[in-house]
Amino acid sequence: MSAAAAAPDDVPAAGRRVAVWRHGTAVPVPPDEPVVTAFDLGLSRGDGVFESVLVTGGRTPWLADHLTRLARSAALLDLTSPGDDAWRALVAAVTGDWPAGTEGVCRLFLTRGTGDDGPPTALALLSAVPADTLVQRTAGISVVALTYGLAADVRAHAPWLLGGAKTLSYAVNMAAQRHAHAQGADDVVFTAVGGELLEGPTSTVVWAAGGVLHTPPVATGILAGTTQARLFARAADVGWPTAVSSGTVADLHAADAVWLLSGIRGAATVHTLDGVPRGDAGLGRQVRELLAR
Ligand SMILES: *Cc1c(COP(=O)(O)O)cnc(C)c1O
Repeated sequence: MSAAAAAPDDVPAAGRRVAVWRHGTAVPVPPDEPVVTAFDLGLSRGDGVFESVLVTGGRTPWLADHLTRLARSAALLDLTSPGDDAWRALVAAVTGDWPAGTEGVCRLFLTRGTGDDGPPTALALLSAVPADTLVQRTAGISVVALTYGLAADVRAHAPWLLGGAKTLSYAVNMAAQRHAHAQGADDVVFTAVGGELLEGPTSTVVWAAGGVLHTPPVATGILAGTTQARLFARAADVGWPTAVSSGTVADLHAADAVWLLSGIRGAATVHTLDGVPRGDAGLGRQVRELLAR
């Protein structure tokens, strides 16, 4: 848990890794070498899906959950995935000589390739978890609520809006984070036009209220978070009730604790919401312990 020591500059052996799927094999590639044609539809249209998988102790303990979601995302976009064995071979190709003491983020990308009957593009990248992400795990985050501009129920009946898919079209998500940064905040909670809570640009919202852990319904089109699912399963194991609840920003202000959850960052405690400081009633430590099991 030596967060500060994991900065990439201190770990020359970590660096970056790339592997690409070519002719049925995972091929490791020097990180500076081009692997994608300029005509790739992932580049021109953001037409693809991805996963960010935590590498800890040199291993990827939650890879299976990410592969399940990657397959679901690919199906929602009518993309042909090379399959779990291919993804496992790509992950093995980049993690093979990764130093066990450095936490890494392994990104899996699947795009439509050049279209016209060509194969999809499938590749894996590995780099160290950024130092500021490691800091947010323990220091917590300041968050602003921003509208996503959609009704909470629209994506459930509009499959072309790709609710529930982790797509490469994240320009809006990144713009929302820059908007938050310009206001001095670290991250964002998106809300629907009716005020219902959705998710963060790269994370799931969880709050504790009345002795229950809550998260918004996936019927709103948010991504089903693997970290949230793991937390809720482990909370149930220890008798901590959980619920899928349609909440509002007012519910977050009234909550005992609020977190943004994702595989790489874990549970980041929200210590400030729309400029208002808030506590975590000592629950942040419990949540992080449950996730670390
Ligand atoms: C990746 C992501 C999450 C978090 O998913 P995990 O499986 O917990 O890492 C949540 N929401 C969005 C929009 C995401 O992109």
